Amino acid sequence: MTLFLLPLVEAILVILLADFIGGVVHWAQDAYIREDTPLVGLSLGKPNMIHHHLPRFMTHHSWWRSSWDLVLLMFILIITMWLTGHLSWQVWLFALVGANSNQIHKWSHRTRAENGRIISFFQDIRVLQSPHHHAIHHTNPKDVRYCPASNMLNPILDFLHFWKGVEWVLRRVFGLKRRVDTSIPGNGLPPAWLNEVRSEHAGKFE
Ligand SMILES: [Zn+2]
Ligand SMILES: [Zn+2]
Repeated sequence: MTLFLLPLVEAILVILLADFIGGVVHWAQDAYIREDTPLVGLSLGKPNMIHHHLPRFMTHHSWWRSSWDLVLLMFILIITMWLTGHLSWQVWLFALVGANSNQIHKWSHRTRAENGRIISFFQDIRVLQSPHHHAIHHTNPKDVRYCPASNMLNPILDFLHFWKGVEWVLRRVFGLKRRVDTSIPGNGLPPAWLNEVRSEHAGKFE
């Protein structure tokens, strides 16, 4: 029994770790990264801003378009672990979940018809994050449920006010303020380039 249970617990912990790190990146995008942030603005800030304004925009992207950067990062992780003699099934599992974080997120924005029976089934049994669970993240003020892969971590982190706590510390220590999210009503106009994206894709991604 223990022989079977231990790897199962380990596997769940590895999945939750990948989900948590995905949540950290998503939270950093939402809270601090803009399209003009040096180095990561275009790759992390802009797509995230588009996603908050047009959540269905990404649903027609291919797996590769949504995942190439994560695949690259996970490839570097696997090579590093292999070269240092630390490559294990846990690393492979972490890389598998990590590389597909955006894809799992994308599935939670697709309809059941778009996802098909198998993905919908895994969402229903909560192996994958369910659309209903993720929809709360897109409900104003959009500051909860950052983790993209499972339904497990978000309720715990939000109950603990984890993200707000980290933001409080960063504000007190470094004076870092949360960026203004113009997808929330009352927060001002979106940047002009976003209106261009919106009109270019009007009706296509609703
Ligand atoms: Zn978000
Ligand atoms: Zn989303």
